[in-house]
Amino acid sequence: MSNSDLRPSASHPKPATRSLSIVPIFMYHSIGEPPAGSSWPVLYVRTATFRHQLGILRALGYRLVGMSEAMPVLRGERRERVAVITFDDAYEDVFEHALPVLLEAGARATTYAVSGSLGGYNAWDAEKVGARKPLMNAELLREWRRQGMGVGAHTRTHARLPGMSPDALEAEVRGSREDLEAVLGCAVDQFCYPYGEMDDVIVGAVRDAGFVAATTTRRGRARSGDDLLRLRRIPVKRHLPLALFPFRVVTSYEDRRG
Ligand SMILES: [Zn+2]
Repeated sequence: MSNSDLRPSASHPKPATRSLSIVPIFMYHSIGEPPAGSSWPVLYVRTATFRHQLGILRALGYRLVGMSEAMPVLRGERRERVAVITFDDAYEDVFEHALPVLLEAGARATTYAVSGSLGGYNAWDAEKVGARKPLMNAELLREWRRQGMGVGAHTRTHARLPGMSPDALEAEVRGSREDLEAVLGCAVDQFCYPYGEMDDVIVGAVRDAGFVAATTTRRGRARSGDDLLRLRRIPVKRHLPLALFPFRVVTSYEDRRG
């Protein structure tokens, strides 16, 4: 092979000339009806609405995946129309209401679990939202995985990470990975920042703990080539009219909100 064989030619354009892939990553919390007395129902998307939203994404030509399957596209190694479904906190209602809909739609998803609260409840904001919401226990989380879904880490205690001592930060970040790997018996390399709070120190701790990607609450559509440890997402809340849902994906509305 001569040097000229390695030069880009008209028939083999340089990869750099390719356009970026947009990878919408949706952020959900709970699926179903809010518990009685809840003062914060916006995080509950109705099951029927969720089913319609997945249908819209499929009609737009997206393959619905979890974070791990989206990595080759986010890294720019492959071009494919994928949309990522994520659920923060690993609520039991996601197992109960979202899982059947995901399976029926041939979709996958990732949930981010608080490793010190498996089988517990949302102690970090129960008072604020006026409801104790049950979290998946270890057995449900294992079943979630057996059904083809992904699990990422969301710290041990849903801690506020900024300003923590290095040891405490490592315990929350690396500790949550180790806890979940012990429970699931598989590698856990996806992370989500509680409250979306992060800075350079926190991102460094997430990288050092071996996570390959991390999602934030910054709004926008992720793109191939983005910083994988600061990924933007599209929040989906209860009262979003179904007719507006596609615009969150196909227009730059979300990017401008970020
Ligand atoms: Zn959370």
